[in-house]
Amino acid sequence: CGICGVVGHRPATPIVFEALRRLEYRGYDSAGIATIAPDGQITRCRAAGKLDNLAAALKAHPLQGTTGIGHTRWATHGAPTTNNAHPHQAGRVAIVHNGIIENFAELKKILEGQGRQFVTETDSEIVAHLVDSYLDQNMTPQQAAAAALKHLEGAYALAMIFEDHDGLMIGARHGAPLAIGYGEGEMFLGSDSLALAPLSRRITYLEDGDWCVLTPQSVEIFDRTDRKVERPIQIAAQTQ
Ligand code: GLU
Repeated sequence: CGICGVVGHRPATPIVFEALRRLEYRGYDSAGIATIAPDGQITRCRAAGKLDNLAAALKAHPLQGTTGIGHTRWATHGAPTTNNAHPHQAGRVAIVHNGIIENFAELKKILEGQGRQFVTETDSEIVAHLVDSYLDQNMTPQQAAAAALKHLEGAYALAMIFEDHDGLMIGARHGAPLAIGYGEGEMFLGSDSLALAPLSRRITYLEDGDWCVLTPQSVEIFDRTDRKVERPIQIAAQTQ
């Protein structure tokens, strides 16, 4: 029910975890974090129930890296189990998703026909597989994300990270809120300004159909026709 992410220069896990704490008020049944480890691989940690369970799991299996995404889930498709908790990974991509992908069953059938195996009961896993199927066709992460977004129907806020692409995060919104927070040598994504509050006071709210490409130094925003667009940066009020 909340998502957050960071591309930067500091350990990502504590930043993402604290942002998940600030998203707790929205309600959730499970949570998880994925990072790009120093060797370029995607690593994940997920837990059903309270964030304290995730904290315990992270203690047992710490996640390294300075690029990471996190999620608090309010299950709509699939029971609130650890295995159904986000982030979901397929091949070289990990994603977090808020909302519902209405046409997931039809997309799943097509991808299963191509030999892809789904391991969760969620609608969200389809997004990871779809993006990964385009990576298989030698697209760049940016091209693969853009191609995948064209097929998705329903409501979503998404954040994605990619194997061997440390310092890259792609976000998208359609019918569910998503904001960019601007830092110094680090950039953030969050469901709302509360998630981003202590991280950045400079915030851009994506418009419906927008998607964005973040690196520690740069933010690019595209509209639903993949045209590069500028969106206003708002200065959030001081919270303390
Ligand atoms: N529909 C997705 C699921 O059930 C995402 C739910 C959410 O917004 O937390 O996993």
